[in-house]
Amino acid sequence: MKKHKNIAARFAMRLSGMILTAAVLLTSCVIPSRVRAKTDPTADFIDRTYELLAHTKADDEIFAFWYRNLSSGNISATSMIDMLIGSPQLFIGEDGSLQEGEALLDSLSLLMTEKALDPQQKSQYLDYMAHGVSIRRVLFDLSVTPEYFGICGRYVVKPEGLTELSPRDQEPELTKYVYDMLSGFTYGRPATNEECDEWCRRFMDGQEVAQAIDDVAKTGTIGGRTMSDEEKVSLIYRTMVGQEITAEDEALYQEALENGMSMSYVVKKISETALFQRKCSDLQILAGTVELTEPRDNNYELTSFLTRMYTRFAGQKPTAEDLNAGVKETLEDPGRVREVITQMLSTPESQALLESDEDFLNTVFEVFYGYTPEESRIKAYLIGMSNGITRTRVLSEILKDPAFDEKMAEYGIDTRVEKIVPEKIVALTFDDGPYTPVTMRILDALEPYGAHATFFVVGNRIANYSECLIRATNLGCEIADHTWNHTTLTRISGDAVSRQIWDCADAVYNLTGVCPRVMRPVGGSYNSTVSANVGMPMIIWSVDTNDWKYRDSNHVINEILNNVRDGDIILMHDLYETTADAVEYVVPALIEAGYTLVTVSELAEYKGIDMENGKAYFSMRG
Ligand code: ZN
Repeated sequence: MKKHKNIAARFAMRLSGMILTAAVLLTSCVIPSRVRAKTDPTADFIDRTYELLAHTKADDEIFAFWYRNLSSGNISATSMIDMLIGSPQLFIGEDGSLQEGEALLDSLSLLMTEKALDPQQKSQYLDYMAHGVSIRRVLFDLSVTPEYFGICGRYVVKPEGLTELSPRDQEPELTKYVYDMLSGFTYGRPATNEECDEWCRRFMDGQEVAQAIDDVAKTGTIGGRTMSDEEKVSLIYRTMVGQEITAEDEALYQEALENGMSMSYVVKKISETALFQRKCSDLQILAGTVELTEPRDNNYELTSFLTRMYTRFAGQKPTAEDLNAGVKETLEDPGRVREVITQMLSTPESQALLESDEDFLNTVFEVFYGYTPEESRIKAYLIGMSNGITRTRVLSEILKDPAFDEKMAEYGIDTRVEKIVPEKIVALTFDDGPYTPVTMRILDALEPYGAHATFFVVGNRIANYSECLIRATNLGCEIADHTWNHTTLTRISGDAVSRQIWDCADAVYNLTGVCPRVMRPVGGSYNSTVSANVGMPMIIWSVDTNDWKYRDSNHVINEILNNVRDGDIILMHDLYETTADAVEYVVPALIEAGYTLVTVSELAEYKGIDMENGKAYFSMRG
């Protein structure tokens, strides 16, 4: 009895539903001595089955079990073969063993159709079985042949077929596809039967193939290995399409990756090919598509431009993060593309690759404009850079060239139309400096907000306080002209006016490499002689803080906050600590009130005002 319990227990553990019934039958039956009449087709069927599949005979106990259940019709012939194949150790015992692989296939065909399999059919079955499909699929196919029905009739056993096939045995072509996908692509080792079942089920239930591939491709390692992009592309293609990629397609996808597109983009492109679509249609599964979530994948032209540009400057591709940020920002506000580029190129890598400032400048012109600029222009930038003007600042100056807009238009980026003009703009201006102790405090107040201001400097002070002007320039502030030695221009000759302006302008240029674009006459005083000789637009003011008179920060704050309007030009002096105190309060207050703080030149540009030399501007209110 011990052996029976053992068999029953193993049954219960391994087999399901219908077969459990058989287990109950087995434990409850009284074992007879071998039941066998001289001509007994059912007994012959059992012997023949055991002989063909295992070259052995069933032991008495097992034989009795089959005999009872086959002859009573509790178990069909197909179920018997199925149970035998599924649990040979239980039904064949220690003496014999079930045949395997090709031999089992041959024997099964002889058993169920009394003939060998067609060679082509056989090699297909072997191929399936090497790719996750079980022998039950063969059993199923053979169990519905007319030959098998004939044999069952002769041996007086029931021929009913298999009621349930696991997912991987239902669609062998799909299983083969899934097996290759899991083994070569997903795990890098042969997929288990459970994994094949799981994924066949998923695809049958409507999981999209492209999405599943993308999920794995996103993980960085594929098939448990780290591979080059080339290896990845050809493996992904082979997995999705089921055949090798052509050199032409490989080059195309490779180029996309080199241009900064993500692997998801490549998966999406492959998912759109007719070959892949057809493959999925043949397998009756959903091809689906890949949802591109990274900004860089949304604009091939822009992404490849940014990538090539960065690579030229830094000697390596930008990171996905940098690209995503750059593309996102540019697409949201094309007017900001200059800042995006400037940020991307101001890296230590670029600094290292283009060691000399001259190399840097030449590369900038070559990449953005395709020409070498006139020597004087290069010289001006070099002057500034030798005095500490940063590459970032120089780059943003160079990119102001209208030719840049044309260049961007080639990439579908309209930098002119889309530039967003802030709703309220104001220009803070500081006269009579520079004076490092105060000027630096003002810059400290501006910098955290990226706010700009204009410093109308007195030329003969520059040599003593140059450091703060370099910093102001690097922060995007404007250095403007306030005469050489603070002379009231209405009292001097036309030639002297010109000298006052250009001596100061030279000093600014020799420090920063940038010539002042605008000037402010001392005391705001000008006449026709001044206008005729000044050679620059004259910037007066619309809000006068009288900071020099009261030396009271509260007075300055109130004057500004009570009077400020969009387009105003506000007058202060970077000579007094009280003015710096006021600025520290006023900058955040203005920003809080919705103002953008810009230089005078930026104010004119935003307002679309083309300033004329010798003309006085009090404000740029709309
Ligand atoms: Zn002044």
